[in-house]
Amino acid sequence: MNLQDLYSSNGWLLPALFFTSVYGGRYLVMALAVSLVARPVADGRGWGRVHHNAPQKFDSQRHIRRELTYSFFTVLIFGMVIATLIGTGWMGSSRFYFQWDSYPAWWFGLSIVVMLLLHDTFSTGHRVMHWRKLFAVMHKVHHQSVHPTAFAAYSFHPTEALAEALIVTAIIFILPVHPLAFLVFQTLSTAYNVYGHCGREFYPQGMASHRWGRWINTSTAHAAHHGKGRYNYGLYFLFWDRLMGTVDPLYK
Ligand SMILES: [Zn+2]
Ligand SMILES: [Zn+2]
Repeated sequence: MNLQDLYSSNGWLLPALFFTSVYGGRYLVMALAVSLVARPVADGRGWGRVHHNAPQKFDSQRHIRRELTYSFFTVLIFGMVIATLIGTGWMGSSRFYFQWDSYPAWWFGLSIVVMLLLHDTFSTGHRVMHWRKLFAVMHKVHHQSVHPTAFAAYSFHPTEALAEALIVTAIIFILPVHPLAFLVFQTLSTAYNVYGHCGREFYPQGMASHRWGRWINTSTAHAAHHGKGRYNYGLYFLFWDRLMGTVDPLYK
């Protein structure tokens, strides 16, 4: 029995619930674990260095409730998109390969790095969402978290969530990837997003001026993006921001 048979015998509801649970469960476990040790408040407690713009007081309950509500719809949309791709047979035209020997073993590892680079390149669309008209209908919800918590990692307006789901899905139609490599890539992506929004910094100081570190996006850089509503649009890296001259001048 393949995935298609599973769909025809059970309808789409179960597979959609399955993928939604995978996305939702992974996000919840990571965000919960990080929020227990790293709080976006300038009280000195918890792990990591607090950001310079961290608030002294923080109504975390109301804030996290909003982030969780939008995140619930985000994981639902992510799950529905994957379920639809499989249910309609579109997944069959993707470049997923299931046989381990279809590509060399080194490609499995390299494909994860390439997916991260490609996703980061697609995330230049983040800057497009900051255009006034698009911002109102897509990205404003994410920026309601001026001081985000780890739960903001998926706090998107449904239109932004759908765009994000389609962007990530596009990768499997461009690159030959094993489903397990795709799962690792998405897990790393969620983990980095949770770190980027958790309100604490774990990288060593001087990262922004380090020869290699200056190319890596950090929680500090993304906190500045949320605080100012501009600059530092990258996801995992700052290649594109450095190229476009959109790194926050005060980042260093
Ligand atoms: Zn933004
Ligand atoms: Zn953000």
